[in-house]
Amino acid sequence: MSCIKQDVRPENGPPGTDPSFNAFDGMQPRSPALTPAEARNGRRVKDSAVPPQGVYLPNDNVLTPAMRSPEYVQMSNAAAITLGIMPGKMHRCGCTRCLNLLLTYPEGCRANCAYCGLARHREAERDYADRNFIRVDWPAVPMQQIVDIVARDGDRSPFHRMCISMITHPRSDADTVSVLKAWTARIDPATTPVPILSNPTTMEREDVRRLRDLGAEIFTVALDAATPAIFDRTRGKGVKSPHKWQKYWDVLLDARDVFGPQKFGAHIIVGMGETEHEVLSLVQQLVDLGGHSHLFCFFPEQGSLMDHLPATPRDQWRRVQLARYLIDYAGVRIEQMRFDAEGRVEHFGLPDAELEDVVGQGVAFRTSGCPGKFRDDVSACDRPYGDSPPSNIASFPFQPNKKDLQKIRRQLRIPVVQG
Ligand code: SF4
Repeated sequence: MSCIKQDVRPENGPPGTDPSFNAFDGMQPRSPALTPAEARNGRRVKDSAVPPQGVYLPNDNVLTPAMRSPEYVQMSNAAAITLGIMPGKMHRCGCTRCLNLLLTYPEGCRANCAYCGLARHREAERDYADRNFIRVDWPAVPMQQIVDIVARDGDRSPFHRMCISMITHPRSDADTVSVLKAWTARIDPATTPVPILSNPTTMEREDVRRLRDLGAEIFTVALDAATPAIFDRTRGKGVKSPHKWQKYWDVLLDARDVFGPQKFGAHIIVGMGETEHEVLSLVQQLVDLGGHSHLFCFFPEQGSLMDHLPATPRDQWRRVQLARYLIDYAGVRIEQMRFDAEGRVEHFGLPDAELEDVVGQGVAFRTSGCPGKFRDDVSACDRPYGDSPPSNIASFPFQPNKKDLQKIRRQLRIPVVQG
């Protein structure tokens, strides 16, 4: 089994729209359908109560076992392949450097985010542990087994980080603490640091502090939407979901105070209807606060409320990727950049030769996230093909080669001085 999926999703806008960016009006999610009572809250899985037996690989054809954190967590196919608990190969990647662990419950995530494969509206269609998320399946694995393998591998472990991803569930805060304790009891967080991908909706400042005191190193908030209007439409009232923009910001600012500079950040999905100027203003705001942004290219996740919408056009994505890199790591400010009437980047605020140098290095186009062991601007969290098919890579999980860079330059549609 491979983490690579074939894809036929659209990457250009609907007829009549400007394909060089995903405008707000064209990115309206579908409304969630009502879930029949017998499928709500994981009832199917809880009623059948099939006991789990070790690793569970998502499978439509068997009864899903009743698995629950903190005893069980899910992980991406890439992490499962790297950990050696499932066979498979990844296109042009030997492994992933980040062990992303996702809390799991038969009831699943109680939120309904429009772009997300884990959302509550899918209850009737697929049990939680079988839902796709950022384009791949997420096997469920006993936490103890994971800790045993990583502790056994010691210095030979390929992982630069282990990240705990919370979901919206009444047990999520307490179980994040339990998973963190299970990890740090056997693995030194100084050797393999632990970031938390938080769920602010259920958290208070004290929860943030507790995770830091227990050894978490970085705290990130999955803001995902770049503006309050897009947030509300995709994660709040617009889709009968509980999240609020202000609450996310409150917890983000708590994280800044508690974790300190360079140890907090926000996830942002690019291409859900914001302008390039809007998303880059947010990137600048995060840098000014002392934090970082981790970007994702919008991809129409199968089964989500936005699976009928176009992926982010590559030129929009590349411009934002490049501009964000310049703001986060090269000291360029958004005020030095120039934008057109539609908010698209027209000038990156650097002389051509310097810009060409950054483009030529290729790091700007790699997956962004918490830093790896070797360079701050090369993320441990490489998420192979989490936001695109391998045939048209959005975030490169490896260093782009010469051919990749030629394609990136074409996608950028900017004149570049040749060296
Ligand atoms: S809270 Fe997170 S996991 Fe839950 S639906 Fe929203 S994006 Fe998905």
